[in-house]
Amino acid sequence: MTEQSGLTAGSKCSGCGIQLQMESPEQPGYLPAQALERTPLLCQRCFRIRNYNESSTVTVDQSEFLRLLSQVGDQDALVIHIVDLFDFHGSVISGLQRFVGNNPVILAVNKTDLLPKVTNWNKIRNWVQKEAKELGLKVEDIILCSAKQNTGFDRLLEVVGFLRGNRDVYVVGATNVGKSTLINRLISDYSDLEEELTVSRYPGTTLDTVNIPLDDGHAIIDTPGIVYETRYTELVNKKDLAAIMPDKPLKPAVYQLNEGQTLFFGAMARFDYIEGGRQSFTFYINNRLNIHRTKLERADELFAQHGGEMLAPPTREHLAELPAWTRHELRIPKGKPTDVFISGLGWVKVNGEQGALVAVHLPKGVKVIMRPSLI
Ligand code: GDP
Repeated sequence: MTEQSGLTAGSKCSGCGIQLQMESPEQPGYLPAQALERTPLLCQRCFRIRNYNESSTVTVDQSEFLRLLSQVGDQDALVIHIVDLFDFHGSVISGLQRFVGNNPVILAVNKTDLLPKVTNWNKIRNWVQKEAKELGLKVEDIILCSAKQNTGFDRLLEVVGFLRGNRDVYVVGATNVGKSTLINRLISDYSDLEEELTVSRYPGTTLDTVNIPLDDGHAIIDTPGIVYETRYTELVNKKDLAAIMPDKPLKPAVYQLNEGQTLFFGAMARFDYIEGGRQSFTFYINNRLNIHRTKLERADELFAQHGGEMLAPPTREHLAELPAWTRHELRIPKGKPTDVFISGLGWVKVNGEQGALVAVHLPKGVKVIMRPSLI
């Protein structure tokens, strides 16, 4: 190493302390020529980590995001769309296809660890494939993964390696689906970084668009997390987030209900069984929420008296911060198992042997749909 290169013998990276060098990009301590101007001196590896971590926290709504993304269709790129399996219909970007043009999309379905331990994964994959198609998404491959358990990532990296060719990789997703965790993995795989980047528990904390240069001259492009206000997780007070976001495998709660019965999930939601014979309903909702059963005719009064206290969380104070509840009446068809899906909260499976008329009460704006059963 010479003085001319701008590095004095013994120059160390101020991030990790490694001896800096300008000869081999693949070797530790590499400092690209353009980085010589920067003070303090940082090796490429530390520079990437810092840059990634220090970018401001930016989230956008879907239309803004799709505008940002509209240039992707003109480029030759690989797109990884990451969704949360627990909140599939709340986190999927339904308008994505129009903007990515002919570029391949890999659908990474994260948080598989939240499904019950005994799960038929082939069935889940087929379900995802069908639902994605219904939503107009053409996907090259579906990877079921869990950033938490570190499963599925090897397969994902394999597919990325296979499809990437000579392209940049865009990573897109809603907030809180595990995008930072995934990017972490990609960076460490493609540029030999070992340090962990920041991940956060709260929605909306994913970093702004960041280009993370790879050793081959291409980049991983992390895009802002999209905020879908129709997800319960975006509405609740951060303190109540842990009450609705499971962090352990769901234990389905089976309730035999007669018509005219109501269940409260803390004060997060209310489920009325209005019409139909005695039958079982299976609730895939965070087990931390207390379920309280009552008569439908008593439910309004019970909520008025005890919402935010005996029925909690949220507490009265946080309940007052949420939009008032609206009632969604749903007729569940006879014939096939159906989920009543509540974005960010979970779902209720109805067997479909006899059909049912139900109503769900939730803060206004939270998305509720019926869908073919996931499990
Ligand atoms: P981002 O907002 O999409 O970048 O998501 P983060 O990577 O910050 O993760 C958001 C939240 O989801 C954090 O609380 C993570 O711990 C959690 N999370 C991420 N991946 C997984 C996963 O595979 N399983 C579970 N259960 N939680 C996850």
